[in-house]
Amino acid sequence: RTLPGDPEPLNFRRQVLGACYSKVLPTPVSQPQLVVYAWEVAQLVDLSVSACDSPEFAQIFAGNALADGMEPYALCYGGHQFGSWAGQLGDGRAINLGEAVNAAGKRWTLQLKGAGPTPYSRSADGLAVLRSSVREFLCSEAMHHLGIPTTRALSLVLTGDTVIRDMFYDGHPKAEPGAVVCRVAPSFTRFGSFQLFAARGDLTALKQLVDYTITTDFPHLGAPCPAVYLQWYTEVCRRTAEMIVHWQRVGFVHGVMNTDNMSILGLTIDYGPYGWLENFDLNWTPNTTDASGRRYRFGNQPSIAFWNLGQLANAIFPLLETDDISPLQAALNTYQQHFAEGWQAMMASKLGLQQFDPASDYDLCTDLLTLLQSVETDMTIFFRRLALLDSHADTSDDAQLMAPLLEAYYLPEQLTPAYQAQLGAWLRPYLQRLRRDGLPEAQRRQNMNAVNPNYVLRNYLAQVAIDQAEQGDFSKIHELLELLRHPYDEQPDKRHFAAKRPDWARQRAGCSMLSCSS
Ligand code: AMP
Ligand code: MG
Ligand code: MG
Repeated sequence: RTLPGDPEPLNFRRQVLGACYSKVLPTPVSQPQLVVYAWEVAQLVDLSVSACDSPEFAQIFAGNALADGMEPYALCYGGHQFGSWAGQLGDGRAINLGEAVNAAGKRWTLQLKGAGPTPYSRSADGLAVLRSSVREFLCSEAMHHLGIPTTRALSLVLTGDTVIRDMFYDGHPKAEPGAVVCRVAPSFTRFGSFQLFAARGDLTALKQLVDYTITTDFPHLGAPCPAVYLQWYTEVCRRTAEMIVHWQRVGFVHGVMNTDNMSILGLTIDYGPYGWLENFDLNWTPNTTDASGRRYRFGNQPSIAFWNLGQLANAIFPLLETDDISPLQAALNTYQQHFAEGWQAMMASKLGLQQFDPASDYDLCTDLLTLLQSVETDMTIFFRRLALLDSHADTSDDAQLMAPLLEAYYLPEQLTPAYQAQLGAWLRPYLQRLRRDGLPEAQRRQNMNAVNPNYVLRNYLAQVAIDQAEQGDFSKIHELLELLRHPYDEQPDKRHFAAKRPDWARQRAGCSMLSCSS
């Protein structure tokens, strides 16, 4: 073991063979300062509020101290980055403190992000800056409260040290405040964890990791064997499909769906240059690194997940002890099925319909998406406002029909008579469809408001919280965390957070496009 302050012997950069993880130590920092914690996440691991408020908490969750029983380690994994096999990646700046079994018997892994170099840091520093840490902290919790499977965030601590980053504001290196987020999840295992062993032909480690994952995280499947491997993989496909349906529901764009960023549990993981759709755009990606290929654009997320699952299938195929790929292929195809069914049910629910009727609702949905794409329309506001329509409204006047939706449009000049006529031509059959569906208005509105959020972590809101935090004022982070605990509620005194992105945020760095620099 090494002494804190001299982590090199354990943490030196290397190829790690035949192991799923490496023991490491967090690098001590100069002055931990707690910015925020999420009490709900503390509760998951039986931490009291007074424990979170203690000075010791900031020390531990900045990486300066270990609590009894903590045995830090970094995970070894690989991945396909932007479609190309990248070899060993691993936890380059994430350090797992260990696993906590809470009083209810549930097991949680606590992981520091930005706590210094590990064997997997390659050419990077193992650190994280405040801005990306605020984004990870807030979005993890926002996603959870939206009902979307995600890793959680326990805490955000400033380290007191600076970190050098470039290519963000003006292309010049800049010293930024360093920070550490503590993430919490049952497991941080990724598709790439399995891929790396398969790529190296290390079937012993591959089998060990698959068996461990099934036994630990999928115990309901029973004792690992080739038939169970197939069931397990099918369940990963289903969970992944469910996660992607949720992303499409709320307009979340992950931004870096590399296979090392795909959780084996179907959790949203690794919040980097993610973003939220403001104007609905299937082609939008928040990631400047992906701006030309747009591999990870909003509309591509479902098929990228499928491609990633295909890579996972390749990785586990040797364990099935057969030359016949058809069972695995069939399992992979269940993703398509689950996604299609999930997407239909999701779209029906967003529209306030009790069921998706294939006879009418394919057209209803695709026509709507075309309309939303055709002029700058705020996705969140549009669906929220759709609930306000009166399904028995007088349908002859286009302008009157669309009045409740006006708030959703960014550019009034785009609301031409031609557009209004198109929208009217969609709204009339939609209202008719609602009448056929037959839900009472109040019930329909309630259902719609339970799936169409009022508040999401708009890109500019996170940036405002970051700007203030960099000046030492953390109040906006706390305010947004509280707001996003109840994303489906009206919260009358918080309405301004539900408004469209202001004009100044259109081109500002951090407010729409982001680099991977974090
Ligand atoms: P990402 O694109 O953020 O998922 O990161 C890809 C790989 O780079 C992962 O193995 C990360 O652990 C690693 N990585 C990202 N940023 C850093 C950093 N600042 N220091 C060390 N490793 C990093
Ligand atoms: Mg990652
Ligand atoms: Mg990342």
